Amino acid sequence: MGYFLLLFALAVTPFALYHWRKRARRTRLLAQRLSAEERARMHALVPLTRRLPPELHERLEGRVCLFLDQVDFTALGGLQLTEEMRLSIAAQACLLIIGTELWYDNLRAVLIYPGAFKSRTQQHSGYVVTEQETVRLGESWSHGRIVLSWQHTAQGAEDDEDGLNVVFHEFAHQIDDLSGSTNGVPLLAEGQSFEDWERVFLKAYRDHVRRVERGAQTLIDPYGATAHEEFFAVVVELFLERPAALKADEPEVYAQLSKLLGLDPAGWDGT
Ligand SMILES: [Zn+2]
Repeated sequence: MGYFLLLFALAVTPFALYHWRKRARRTRLLAQRLSAEERARMHALVPLTRRLPPELHERLEGRVCLFLDQVDFTALGGLQLTEEMRLSIAAQACLLIIGTELWYDNLRAVLIYPGAFKSRTQQHSGYVVTEQETVRLGESWSHGRIVLSWQHTAQGAEDDEDGLNVVFHEFAHQIDDLSGSTNGVPLLAEGQSFEDWERVFLKAYRDHVRRVERGAQTLIDPYGATAHEEFFAVVVELFLERPAALKADEPEVYAQLSKLLGLDPAGWDGT
């Protein structure tokens, strides 16, 4: 019996040690802060970070440190990877989740193209497979990969009041995917009612589709009318970049996102 216990302990110890080290590293990184130089650079690259209340700013810095440690960045298409790119993407991605305990557990790689890039998708219909090439600004994959256009990433961060931000959009898909599928229904916050979420989002989505079909002007990007998950991603962009407008037009959507992300950006300075 003692012999088996010893074998068991020998087999389990390396795993336990690995997880303990991983947890300790995570705790250390979350407590870490950016240097004064990095902080100034982040504020210049992502002006929205300057408006954060101090306690959220602290949380952002720790998460940025963890993100930069976890994720591999690769520049493609002749682009040279810079610290600015890493910092800008990490800051925007982490801004989404600073009010929650959510984390991008599965995310491993961010690929960056200089500008809009072509992406091939396959559609299967019986034995027929058709390949389509589409031009994209960003792409989110459920197996831990994000692809971004640097030109649009930088522009999206620089103009933080136009409601368009490709990093918020793609990372909203990552948050959505934490529930097991990217379908516009993310894992809700503790105590958040699924019935309320469903009622609010279904109605808002249907209203939006109708307005877009009529050719009406909409605050929400018409692209949101293509699918529930796209609707979720575009309202997240608005929530952070035009919170007052979203709150005025769609108060219930704003309130649901506020609960989900634990944030109230309409109350931040200058928004
Ligand atoms: Zn999308």
